[in-house]
Amino acid sequence: MPTLPPDRETATAPDTDPRFDVPLRGVAVDPETRCAHWDDPVDVIALRFGCCEAYYPCDACHDAAADHEAVPWPRERFDEPAVLCGVCGTTLTATAYLDGDDDACPACDAPFNPGCRAHRDRYFEG
Ligand SMILES: [Zn+2]
Ligand SMILES: [Zn+2]
Ligand SMILES: [Zn+2]
Repeated sequence: MPTLPPDRETATAPDTDPRFDVPLRGVAVDPETRCAHWDDPVDVIALRFGCCEAYYPCDACHDAAADHEAVPWPRERFDEPAVLCGVCGTTLTATAYLDGDDDACPACDAPFNPGCRAHRDRYFEG
């Protein structure tokens, strides 16, 4: 096992990362939900999956930390929290995230990676 930096934690099912108020798993996750796969300053959201209702920094984290196929967040639940801002811990509904005009947290203004919404089909039912 490679040694992780001290602020990085890996949580795999059935465990969840105790640093977050929501159930969250991933690989080498930092305190603002950057992960082994997405590690830029703006990579600070985690997305909830319909299969296990837990949040993961990305779909590769889901595939590594869960024991089943990823299922995107279902359309009939777009008014429920499905996106976590890793900076302030606020959760956004899928609708609020997808309809937001600017790629930033409405609560704390942390910039979000605009590329995430380009991959929306991995995370949200079309
Ligand atoms: Zn799952
Ligand atoms: Zn990841
Ligand atoms: Zn925030």
